[in-house]
Amino acid sequence: MMPSPHASYPHLLSPLAVSNLRLRNRMVMGAMHTRLESMDRPNERIQAFYRARAEGEVGLIITGGISPNLVGRMEDDAPALTCDADLSWHRAIVAAVSGTDTKVCMQLLHAGRYAKFAACVAPSNLRARINKFIPHALTTQEIFKTIADYASAASLARDIGYHAVEIMGSEGYLINEFTAPCTNNRTDEFGGDFEGRIRFPIEIIKAVREAVGPDFAIIYRISALDLVDGGMTGDETLELARRAELAGADILNTGIGWHESDVPTVSHNVPRAGWAYAARRIKEAVTIPVMASNRINSPEVAESILGSGHADLVSMARPLLADPDFARKSRLRQSQRINTCIACNQACLDNIFKHQTATCLVNPRAGRELDWVMQPAPHPKRLAVVGAGAAGMNFAFKAAERGHQVTLFEAAAELGGQLRLARNIPGKTEFDEMLRYFQARLNEEKVTLRMNCTATAEQLAGGDFDEVVLASGVRPRQPDIPGIQCSDVHGYDQVLSGAAAVGERVIIIGAGAIAYDMVEFLLGEAPHTPPTLADFAAEYGLDLSAQSAGGRFLRTQCLPARRQVTLLQRSDRRPGSSLALTTGWIRRDKVQRFGVPILTGVTTQRIDDEGLHYTTIEGKLLTLAFDTVIVCAGQEPIRELEAQLRSSSPTLPVHVIGGADNATELDAKRAIEQASHLALKI
Ligand code: FAD
Ligand code: SF4
Repeated sequence: MMPSPHASYPHLLSPLAVSNLRLRNRMVMGAMHTRLESMDRPNERIQAFYRARAEGEVGLIITGGISPNLVGRMEDDAPALTCDADLSWHRAIVAAVSGTDTKVCMQLLHAGRYAKFAACVAPSNLRARINKFIPHALTTQEIFKTIADYASAASLARDIGYHAVEIMGSEGYLINEFTAPCTNNRTDEFGGDFEGRIRFPIEIIKAVREAVGPDFAIIYRISALDLVDGGMTGDETLELARRAELAGADILNTGIGWHESDVPTVSHNVPRAGWAYAARRIKEAVTIPVMASNRINSPEVAESILGSGHADLVSMARPLLADPDFARKSRLRQSQRINTCIACNQACLDNIFKHQTATCLVNPRAGRELDWVMQPAPHPKRLAVVGAGAAGMNFAFKAAERGHQVTLFEAAAELGGQLRLARNIPGKTEFDEMLRYFQARLNEEKVTLRMNCTATAEQLAGGDFDEVVLASGVRPRQPDIPGIQCSDVHGYDQVLSGAAAVGERVIIIGAGAIAYDMVEFLLGEAPHTPPTLADFAAEYGLDLSAQSAGGRFLRTQCLPARRQVTLLQRSDRRPGSSLALTTGWIRRDKVQRFGVPILTGVTTQRIDDEGLHYTTIEGKLLTLAFDTVIVCAGQEPIRELEAQLRSSSPTLPVHVIGGADNATELDAKRAIEQASHLALKI
């Protein structure tokens, strides 16, 4: 690759020509299921969604998975491309990039035994850990028919105007189920030894090549690491990569880990570029371009992967949800202006698993491009915003962008509110990026900042403002327990901000999300330290040579704990059941491996010199000795100003957003969404 001498990201911004595909740069928007097809005006929505990314100058967009037949869909209403399909959805996607330099590739994904219906299929009738349905084992004849379905869907894709197809061979879907010994018990020509197991993908690539002709780009997404017991070995993976090239693949994309793996692959505790080693191994085995994926969220990280020869392209899915203009800002060397994906999964993957449409915590406009249109304010107003947490900052710069004159009051010396505490949790260091972006936007939109200034009702109602937005957030709830004022009892905010020292024996009152964070803060890496690959690999038993079966060794069952921590949960439901869907399991697993007991059905009676006295659900009175008690028992909204303003100035419009509006659970996603929504209409 000949880097351009003028670019800050010479490798990332270099064009690439493969087969018929001419890419303007090396940035690829990876496949993401958005569920926009389930909304009203689905074609317009998906078109607006991809159009925004094409206008943002990404080189290639890979669509969410499209099944080559009906039984391969992820769920009943997921899209497929069959001969009698309605093609308007696909035409809308192709039209989304027309007139731009961005290319679009359709991903062919057969869900195999991950499909959420009883008729799901697989090489063998072995149920996946994450699905309740036992798959039907495909007959040999059905396998040949499935291969033909791939070919005919690819040919239709070419005719519709897509520039390439990607054959999804990773993440534990059907193709992966054939290639790994743990899911393939077949005794016919599609099972048994390595040759039999890889026959299915190789026949698919050949059939697709035959159907689309020699000049149409085929990407094969290879499972670079299965991360399950009984997955392919490293040598088998390399041999499959070589055979895929020989069979007709033009580019190899890499997938990491099956959905049922117990190794996190995309969440914020995975180091940035943490899987590049697996892409590099494949790149060294083939002559075609290789794409790296997962946890690549800045142009610097992407450039370092390409510049160090680990890969030729980078796939970034969620970062393009977070900022459709990622590629353009990279070209313009405006990396500091990129709204960075913080790998929280809260509004993208969690939404999909809850059967909702995907959007983004830091960019709630994602997927709603048709509805959330930024218009200049017809009557610019003087707006006072109280509180510079996630809600207040977002409201302030978005309202200012529309032409309002905005003053933001913050009692503290720094911006961020609760986010400044959250960023100290190991693994949540990505929150820094959110703060950096919000701060840059406040500067750009020339919001007047009044730091170290506790806003009062008199100040707000004195005539300087037309409307007031209260984003004053939350304060930790202090339960009414005798002895809670004792000097060894602290709120989570005091501990996380470093204001309170913590002893050896710790009791945490509460077992919600903040209590789980607190365990990581007390027992995990040093506060505010990004995860490293060495630590991550040690924690999850990764084989960094990628040679062993599934790419991993036996995982250690215990993590070293430098304190003795006990969690007290008032209810008797399963601990951690309220944690987020796609990351909760990682946190429950960690707390368990740290050996932290969670006592459920507990009522704290009092705290004194002897210890913390509590009753069990059976009514037994017990005592736990401690050095420090940390209270993580929820929050209360701070909204005293609202009552004062409503009584002193009843005609002054007052809006309440974020934690101040609803403190039942700490949630930046709701705070940012509510703030953005109000800013669009005020
Ligand atoms: P806050 O963040 O509370 O901000 C309110 C601000 O208002 C404060 O800065 C305060 O000083 C200021 N203020 C109050 N009164 C006045 C006044 N009269 N004048 C001037 N200023 C005033 N959320 C997630 O979605 N995902 C997570 O993973 C996550 N992890 C978290 C981990 C921890 C440890 C913590 C503490 C929070 C976490 N959160 C998380 C929650 C998230 O940070 C909050 O939901 C979000 O910040 C709430 O934003 P807010 O703007 O409503 O309020
Ligand atoms: Fe990234 Fe979180 Fe947005 Fe998903 S919701 S795209 S993980 S920032």
